[in-house]
Amino acid sequence: MNNSNTMWDAVVIGAGAAGLFCAGQAGARQKKVLVLDHAKKIGEKIRISGGGFCNFTNRYSSAQHFLSRNPHFVKSALARYRPSDFEGWLKDNNIAYHEKHRGQLFCDRSAQDLINLLLQLCQRSSVTIRYPVTVHDCQLIDNLWHIYTNQGVVTSHSLIWATGGLPVPKIGASDKALQFAQHLGHLVVSPRPALVPLSLTEKEESSFTQLSGLSVPVLISSGSKKEHYGQAHFDEDLLFTHRGLSGPATLQASSYWREGESIRVAFLTPNQWQEMDNSAGGKLVDNVLTHFLPQRLAKHIAQQTGLEQRRFAELNRLDKERLKDTLLNSVFHPDTTLGWNKAEVMLGGVDTDLMDSRTMASTVIPQCYFIGECVDVTGHLGGHNFQWAWSSAYVCAQSL
Ligand SMILES: Cc1cc2nc3c(=O)[nH]c(=O)nc-3n(C[C@H](O)[C@H](O)[C@H](O)COP(=O)(O)OP(=O)(O)OC[C@H]3O[C@@H](n4cnc5c(N)ncnc54)[C@H](O)[C@@H]3O)c2cc1C
Repeated sequence: MNNSNTMWDAVVIGAGAAGLFCAGQAGARQKKVLVLDHAKKIGEKIRISGGGFCNFTNRYSSAQHFLSRNPHFVKSALARYRPSDFEGWLKDNNIAYHEKHRGQLFCDRSAQDLINLLLQLCQRSSVTIRYPVTVHDCQLIDNLWHIYTNQGVVTSHSLIWATGGLPVPKIGASDKALQFAQHLGHLVVSPRPALVPLSLTEKEESSFTQLSGLSVPVLISSGSKKEHYGQAHFDEDLLFTHRGLSGPATLQASSYWREGESIRVAFLTPNQWQEMDNSAGGKLVDNVLTHFLPQRLAKHIAQQTGLEQRRFAELNRLDKERLKDTLLNSVFHPDTTLGWNKAEVMLGGVDTDLMDSRTMASTVIPQCYFIGECVDVTGHLGGHNFQWAWSSAYVCAQSL
């Protein structure tokens, strides 16, 4: 690989969303950029994202949609490269897309359109991409990074880590950036799977098996005020599965949930409860519930509360309290997450304390940057994680 003795302006490790975008943007600024990836296929996370259509940004992405030990860290990059900038780039390049839900933008045809556009950007900017290449070591010698690979040594002025997170190990995840950062003085916030389904304790799971496959809109609450990220509430769909809980509500809640904690779910709003209470009269509880909830869930709740075949008007105060509590404040006890194979994103990563939020540069490792998911910045569901990849990549590229 060092046959040509090229001295690169920047070597980017990782040809995913952040790595390709950063390389392309830096190349467009006349930088000589080499991208190295250890996978046999590149851009795979983009390809499988958003059910194959890639939810590539969210029009409303802002600091409140991210978890990080430093919640302010994302602000500068998000302000300098906004969702509308990325949207504009897609428009300029005739990539068809649509808004699905609350500002979430998806490709019309497939995520491959976006991968092709990123590769085109790199090609037009004369970026060199090599894969599969294994990076063994990176050392700074006389102000030049020496990157030792299974195909020789390359030298570069700047080194950019864009190796992503640990989810879906079979398509090339690695913690190489985290190990490197830690070795050279950065703190690393312990990684854990996030945006991930949760399994319930065996006892709880068996009581919900009859609901498997059912999706229902809820208000879900997770996290603890004692924890760094605090408590969060999401108004999304909950999916009951044969293993526990999934669907957007659970994925969102999972980023805040910790082992030993419970999750609270409201199937109705207080207003809906009031409406139910006012209008139920002498009807059977099962029938009243069916007006507000899917039939299977209505039947399950009537059974669980022991109010099946009872008339609403005849419920005593305690019965009513029990029903109201189940509808407005059901408590679930997950025992674990479904792990890295099922997670969409990694919580934790290279701590932002020793990073410059305007450039993504390390403040302790010279000429070294961390971008995308390997940084301790984790987005909510809905396109925020890709927006972080684009924004962090862009500001890095501008500073090279
Ligand atoms: C199933 C799924 C669906 C998702 N859907 C969405 C969505 O719709 N919207 C959204 O915003 N986010 C989504 N995400 C999250 C999103 O894909 C990531 O946050 C985003 O890809 C992160 O970009 P990145 O460039 O940091 O990392 P990646 O895109 O993961 O790229 C990292 C690259 O680094 C390479 N690499 C890793 N280690 C090494 C090494 N040691 N040497 C060389 N190369 C290495 C990998 O092979 C990979 O090519 C989804 C994730 C999953 C798993």
